[in-house]
Amino acid sequence: MNLFDRQQPRERPERPERSGRPRRRSHVVLVALPLLAALAGLPASAPTSALGRLPSCDLGDVYTVPRGYDEWSITLVDRLLRVGKDYVPPDLVHVSEAGLPGGGHIRAVAVDDTKAMARAARAAGAPIGVWSAYRSYAQQQQIFTGYARQNGFDSAITYSQRPGHSEHQLGLGVDFMSAGGGDPLQGDWATTAAGAWMRDNSWTFGWVNSYPRGKDGARWNDRTCLRYEPWHYRYLGREVARKVHRSGLTIREYLWRNHTQLDSRGRPLSTSTPRPSARPSGDPPTTASPSQSSTPAPTTVSSTRPAAISPLAPPGSSQSPVLDSRIVVGGLLAFLAVLTVGLVARRRRHRQAGELPRMQGGPADPADR
Ligand SMILES: [Zn+2]
Repeated sequence: MNLFDRQQPRERPERPERSGRPRRRSHVVLVALPLLAALAGLPASAPTSALGRLPSCDLGDVYTVPRGYDEWSITLVDRLLRVGKDYVPPDLVHVSEAGLPGGGHIRAVAVDDTKAMARAARAAGAPIGVWSAYRSYAQQQQIFTGYARQNGFDSAITYSQRPGHSEHQLGLGVDFMSAGGGDPLQGDWATTAAGAWMRDNSWTFGWVNSYPRGKDGARWNDRTCLRYEPWHYRYLGREVARKVHRSGLTIREYLWRNHTQLDSRGRPLSTSTPRPSARPSGDPPTTASPSQSSTPAPTTVSSTRPAAISPLAPPGSSQSPVLDSRIVVGGLLAFLAVLTVGLVARRRRHRQAGELPRMQGGPADPADR
């Protein structure tokens, strides 16, 4: 026996026979209301333009959005945002195709501009080469873990990115060196001919230094969240590179403000699906790719310090975004709506047949109230 049965008189006044339309309308309302309620929750997780504050140098593991292979020029990775373990650009080519001495691979999308840059640097008497280019997730893991073992996590995180967070994994980050020169990590590479030429000219070819000094000259600053690296450049394409250069912002600041997608609460829009899987449109076919079989095996030391995970996105939550839970709730509400309509229809049939058991419980028909 339910509440509505108690409130209703035992002898219902005979209602005039109605056409099916108004009753159907009530059914439509029954279905529509829960669906609308479910949908009302969705906009909260819909992407918005990136207008949120630039986060402090939080450590976290949030999948960056956008990160499609064809969205390479606006994909941001930093201490918080990352790509997945299986993010492997489909168009990696040897750096020699871009006219650069040294080893390693970069994405084919960067080849033409890089070739032009290498030629211009050589003509200016400041020839450049490659110290380190594409790194797989596993390779970055080995590098970071080595630094963390050697100097401790807190130190390593100031000059090296954890796996998934490195521009090297995008196939667009390169540590340059002076062609025929030594280790660019020794001393201030920006004071060499090649380093100075790159600092002043690289942006015109689509390359921007990712980790410049702070505005006060500090080697570590929260605009980049990494120690000064005069040798590390990121390819953004000429258009985005020009905008970053003219904005006076760092790559991290510029992409976060203009392209990184946030939810309505200003948090990074995390999606668990590593979306990129197709070859970017218009790219030349892969002519070479790094041998994955030679990838060093991940070491057993974790490269993530559990206590340092950002409250924005605990490791588990980055895999199960808000959107997923809303879809589940929406589905549940839709199911309940369908169930309600079915029961109401059954009750109506019984009533029409004059055999509605008055004491039998069942959902009340709102149309009867
Ligand atoms: Zn680097």
